[in-house]
Amino acid sequence: MRENLKMALKTPEEYLESIKRDMNLYMFGEKVKEFWNHPIIKPSINTVAKIYELAQMEEYKDLMTTHSHMTGEIINRFTHIHQSVDDLIKKVKMQRLIGQKVACCFQRCVGFDAANALYSVTHELDKKYNTNYHERFKNYWIEVQNQDLMVDGAMTDTKGDRGKRPSDQTDPDQYLHMVDETDDGIIVRGAKVHQTGWLNSHRAIVMPTLTIRPGEEEYAVSFGVDTDAKGITMVYGRQSCDTRKMEDSKMEVGNYKYGGQEIFVIFEDVFIPNENIFMKGEVEFSGELVNRFAGFHRQSYGGCKVGIGDVLIGATSLITEYQGVNNASHIKDKLIEMIHLNETLYCCGIACSSLGFKREAGNYEMDMLLANVCKQNVTRFPYEISRLIDDLVGGIICTLPSEADLKSEEVGPLLKKYLSVCDGVSVEDRYKLLRFIENISMGVAAVSYKVESMHGAGSPQAQRIMITRQSNLEKKKQLIKDILDIE
Ligand code: SF4
Ligand code: FE
Repeated sequence: MRENLKMALKTPEEYLESIKRDMNLYMFGEKVKEFWNHPIIKPSINTVAKIYELAQMEEYKDLMTTHSHMTGEIINRFTHIHQSVDDLIKKVKMQRLIGQKVACCFQRCVGFDAANALYSVTHELDKKYNTNYHERFKNYWIEVQNQDLMVDGAMTDTKGDRGKRPSDQTDPDQYLHMVDETDDGIIVRGAKVHQTGWLNSHRAIVMPTLTIRPGEEEYAVSFGVDTDAKGITMVYGRQSCDTRKMEDSKMEVGNYKYGGQEIFVIFEDVFIPNENIFMKGEVEFSGELVNRFAGFHRQSYGGCKVGIGDVLIGATSLITEYQGVNNASHIKDKLIEMIHLNETLYCCGIACSSLGFKREAGNYEMDMLLANVCKQNVTRFPYEISRLIDDLVGGIICTLPSEADLKSEEVGPLLKKYLSVCDGVSVEDRYKLLRFIENISMGVAAVSYKVESMHGAGSPQAQRIMITRQSNLEKKKQLIKDILDIE
């Protein structure tokens, strides 16, 4: 029974082999060769490989895999187009599961969410313009499903002067746009930033960053592109404490197995063949694509950040045990508060999925209002959870000496004596836990847990705009008028 599954799904080893390609990537001012061996990058690759590993396991097959509605084959859920409310719920459950396994951003949801948005938008585009974007997109995506490809989603432009429209910028490339067109395709120029998944993906789906208006048609483009396409340059983003990964010490890193990353991606006249273009100038559909993608990704946060929260709550509970304060009533209460906040986020992820609905194209979409409420809470609760962690752990979270000192013949024994806590707890285990918590609170992993929670899938104000649009205040005013017989 699993034979078929193994054929359709990549193993982690096959995934690792498949991403070994020459990428035009720069870090610290130098071109990176064999990026898969770079100590700063490796943890992010391990994270993606974990998705492929979990999909091979019988235990997780219900969440991690499903059948393609287009081919009938068993596929990784990250390549699925949701066919039911149950699919939407399973997506969030899967994201929580993976968050629990890696405690960081696992990078694969952006292309997944972009695909689900494009599936319905291209269908509606074709209906209006008699184009064949939907068929093109399905063909493109069947290849993704059949080869179990990792796909990034690229939305955020550099934006230049935020007070100006794309076409009013001094430099027209501040928003990615078409600069030329041939019979075979288009040429695009611009940059996409905060690209978590780019480097470890085989392909990317590019979308506009905002609603494009008439007169700005060159900016209303969406297409698929290979991440190593000619004309693409990548620059690796710095993260706090990133060079700790280059020290010969696992313990200093915190989460030494897994991690996220961010890439600055520059498109210098990249050719996109017609068969990979899914929108070209149809400005009135650009806003819908942005909103649907953002909605799906705001739903995602009700799963992934909850999984990381689970690990953090576990780490905090364990450190209070190690340090002998776990029975204090205020400690127990703060742990309950952390759980309450974390589960509230999960409630939002499950709720917006449960109220999902069928689009005309046949695929299912989450409830837009609740998805935005979900993400708005995600911009707040992880910060409060993190504040409670810092409270419970103590000042040692940012005063801990290095592992080298811990192992030094001179000061090591003295440090071990004074870093000892409850009987039976090893200093090394406490040290690893403290570094892990430090890392999430203020190191590299703070990107995955805090900054992404704030700005990923749109900054808080973007959700407030959508909440305003979706909340129907007029209807609420009518409710009170009806009760009080106000005309
Ligand atoms: Fe997935 Fe969360 Fe990372 Fe977005 S932030 S790609 S939803 S893990
Ligand atoms: Fe993200």
